[in-house]
Amino acid sequence: MNQQNSSIAEKTILLGLTEEEMCAFALTLGMPKFVGKQLHNWIYQHRVVSFSEMKNISEANRRKLDEVAIVGLHAPEVSQRSKDGTVKYLYRTLRGNYVETVYIPTSERATLCVSCQVGCKMNCQFCMTGRQTWNESLTTADILNQIFALPEYDNLSNLVFMGQGEPFDNTDHILKSLHILTDPKEMAWSPKRITVSTVGILPGLQRFLNESRCHLAISLHNPFPDERKDIMPIEKAYSITQVISLLHQYDFCLKTPHSEEATKQRRLSFEYIMFRDQNDSLQHANAIVELVKGLDCRVNLIRFHEIPDSPFHGTDLTKMEHFRDYLTHHGVFTTIRASRGEDILAACGMLSTKEQQRQAGANQ
Ligand code: SF4
Repeated sequence: MNQQNSSIAEKTILLGLTEEEMCAFALTLGMPKFVGKQLHNWIYQHRVVSFSEMKNISEANRRKLDEVAIVGLHAPEVSQRSKDGTVKYLYRTLRGNYVETVYIPTSERATLCVSCQVGCKMNCQFCMTGRQTWNESLTTADILNQIFALPEYDNLSNLVFMGQGEPFDNTDHILKSLHILTDPKEMAWSPKRITVSTVGILPGLQRFLNESRCHLAISLHNPFPDERKDIMPIEKAYSITQVISLLHQYDFCLKTPHSEEATKQRRLSFEYIMFRDQNDSLQHANAIVELVKGLDCRVNLIRFHEIPDSPFHGTDLTKMEHFRDYLTHHGVFTTIRASRGEDILAACGMLSTKEQQRQAGANQ
């Protein structure tokens, strides 16, 4: 930890606190409770980065706040812009590591892909982040900073927690972030604007299903447990059949272009990266049909972004379309997800890996 980070560590970080917590903090400093409400408003609504900008807080109180706290919002340090408008940002965490966040605008929506860890312990064989040494789980402040310090914040319509790391290996901070984003007394975003993706860590998944109403995406990638465990070691600890059994205990809502039903319930999707000759046969398609039987869900087929020195290759589009049609004809609503930002290495983990390596080189 460098000198700047160690001085930050001694101060209270306000980003990531609820309004109630900020009020309690103000009281501990001998300030009126309403200062907590003002802090909350300045940080989450106006997204200011320093106390000096908080003009309705007295100068004496701002000086006191400066001594003991930091706001916690800080802009991304590096960005890469794709020709299709996708932007990949690198944010520095409060402990000094780098994490990636990807902004994906389309004509209908603007989605932010948020990370929850630096590196990842899950070791999925096809993933660049899985190859990084696990460094840290992000704090609520680090998670929310990716959203509230985003230059395009005002355009945002959707959030997906599909960036680096496994959300339910960092459940407390993910759930607190979701609470601040969606609670009517906090930011009051609709939970229907947010999707959390997981490989299926059962304890965290169960808490999420009980404590949040956001949408859920399960990283499936192979319906056969024996094959899945070779590419996703988590299968050995929490099998996909256990995950499916848990999901059967909850209600989901399938919204397709042909069904305009109200989406009071959360949506469930299965993410399926297609690897040539590995998981793209009709046997695999048929096993998916059997696996998701009885669940209101959709399957998203994803083109594989090639990563260096990898034995995996992407399935070609024609074969993906056959796979999609087979699933659809067997009653499973299936889409092929459009690929974005390929020219800026959108496969998660590439930019931050490069930056960590660059920094390590500079420090040697
Ligand atoms: S795919 Fe997700 S869970 Fe798996 S190693 Fe990569 S970041 Fe971790």
